[in-house]
Amino acid sequence: MQTKFKLLAIVTLMLLGLAIATIINVSLNFRDYSINSAIDKAKMTATIVKDGLTAHMVNGIMDKREYFLQQISANDEVKALWLVRGKKVIDQYGKGFNDETMRDAIDTQVIASGKMFKKITEKADGAILRVTIPYKATISVGHPNCLACHNVKRGDTLGAISMEFDISSMRNTGLITILKILGINLLFIIVALFLINYYITPFLQFFSDLQEGIKKAYKGDFTHEFRSKAGGEAGEVVSQINTLFHKMHQAFGEIRVNLATFATGRLHSDDPLYEAKTIINELSDIYKFKKTIELDENKNVVYSRIKDILISKFELTHFAIYEINNKHNKRNLIYICDTQLESICDDKVDDDAQQCRAHRTGSNVISTEFQELCKTCTADDLHYICLPFTINEDASILVSITSKAKADIAKFTSCIPSIKNYLEAAKPVIESRILMEKLHDTSLRDGMTNLYNRRFLEEVIDKIMSQAQRGKETYHVMMIDIDFFKMVNDTYGHDVGDTVIVALAKILKENTREADLAIRYGGEEFLVMLHHATDDGALQVATKIHSAFAQLVFDVGVNEKLQKTMSIGMAKFPIDGDTIWKCIKYADTALYEAKNTGRNKIVLFKPEMFENDDGSTDY
Ligand code: GH3
Ligand code: MG
Ligand code: MG
Repeated sequence: MQTKFKLLAIVTLMLLGLAIATIINVSLNFRDYSINSAIDKAKMTATIVKDGLTAHMVNGIMDKREYFLQQISANDEVKALWLVRGKKVIDQYGKGFNDETMRDAIDTQVIASGKMFKKITEKADGAILRVTIPYKATISVGHPNCLACHNVKRGDTLGAISMEFDISSMRNTGLITILKILGINLLFIIVALFLINYYITPFLQFFSDLQEGIKKAYKGDFTHEFRSKAGGEAGEVVSQINTLFHKMHQAFGEIRVNLATFATGRLHSDDPLYEAKTIINELSDIYKFKKTIELDENKNVVYSRIKDILISKFELTHFAIYEINNKHNKRNLIYICDTQLESICDDKVDDDAQQCRAHRTGSNVISTEFQELCKTCTADDLHYICLPFTINEDASILVSITSKAKADIAKFTSCIPSIKNYLEAAKPVIESRILMEKLHDTSLRDGMTNLYNRRFLEEVIDKIMSQAQRGKETYHVMMIDIDFFKMVNDTYGHDVGDTVIVALAKILKENTREADLAIRYGGEEFLVMLHHATDDGALQVATKIHSAFAQLVFDVGVNEKLQKTMSIGMAKFPIDGDTIWKCIKYADTALYEAKNTGRNKIVLFKPEMFENDDGSTDY
């Protein structure tokens, strides 16, 4: 509303200025006009007097001129009128009567100079215009010849006429005119101010409403409902801003909810836009971090990147990273900063990870919260924050941050959620690299065929499958069993049997890709899991394995050859079963069907193969 008063004050001043300028201009013009018209009147009177006197002279009735002059003077506006005789006229005709003699210095000056004089004398009670006009001796055609009666030369000043006009009425009229103009202007100003106030107020109210709404919006509150009485285009603007604010409210609400899930307990800023920007930047950094570590070869490289982030992004200088083997309860130092060199924990923690308070409780341990919080800490002069982080049931990470300054701990505490976000991003990659290590673990492979063994299936398959579920990956499960294999052992001995098994394993390796899994499931039973194959593609692989094995010819004695066939049962994860174990079971069911229907064939699982007596299908 301050703006409104400023605006009204400016308009008032401008209009007043305009009114004053108009009044000054009008009054000056009016004064000039009044004076000029009085002077004209004086000149006209002078001419009448001159012509009248000339006529008196020509007609020889100069003795009657006094009456004539009295009549001329008998005018309301003519306050005084008298004639002045020049020296030559006085010399020729005498001084004349009273109203024909010099009265003051002005008369003398005009007679001497021959130039007209005019002057206004203003007093409180009135204004007088004094005009003295000289008469010159002239000779002109159509006019009486002055030189005929006067002993003068042409151009001599014969005399003068002095008049005093009362111009008070002119001044009063001027004043009344000015007052009228002033009155009209004031009326105009009042009307103008009223109209401006009437039309501007709704806009100004809208602006102050807008200001209030924007102030709230700055704090993240987009619920303000704008109102305006301005109507028209302003009304449209209000409705558009309301729509915009409504959309912003919804969008920021969703963003806030989404960010809140990401940045738990950290959305307390007064400026959610700034906060959103910060978190989105952090998300972007984490995304880049994740994309980078996804291509890292092993978990040690990933740990090294976590270390780099802690140094570069969080500006940590004193910290250590540990990996804990949950199965063996051992703790292994991954990284410790050069300046610290030694762990602040008692050595026994490495052999018994449960001694680590953070790891045991699964909660952050912040030394400033309680005296001697972790009993295994050996550094009395250091403050610390220990952050536990679980990768999976096999492994956990522990980040231990230290500082001599207590104030640093509060600073680092505020970074904990962010650090955990990075660890969370690294978690699936570390998990997958641990899995990769396991896949290379020889204890999970069969010594004879070098295929994965049953233990691998039990230890690793769940993790592979949970990854598959997350990535919406599919697996075609093939259960393979050699037909009448017992007979091979019985007829040709176990060595020949082993040769056949190794030959089949070779065929499986040759016909599967890196991402597929070939497992020796039992004696001469094999499980092949084809990763992300089409139904046709999977059947082609099965057919290839089936016919390649059937074509193998084993020398089992002089002129004696052995050829074997196999039966294959197939099921599809997650179409046939929502867990891999169900699919293995269904593939086995299909294999059983193949054996029962003549062997040497590939059978695809159908739900009716696995129906109970009551018609239900379960596992
Ligand atoms: P089916 O067509 O019904 O499968 O008949 P089968 O004779 O093949 O029967 P089964 O699958 O039950 O036979 C398994 C045989 O495989 C029994 C066992 O002697 C033999 N076997 C298991 N492991 C090995 C091994 O490592 N080496 C050899 N040589 N034989 C094995
Ligand atoms: Mg068999
Ligand atoms: Mg068998």
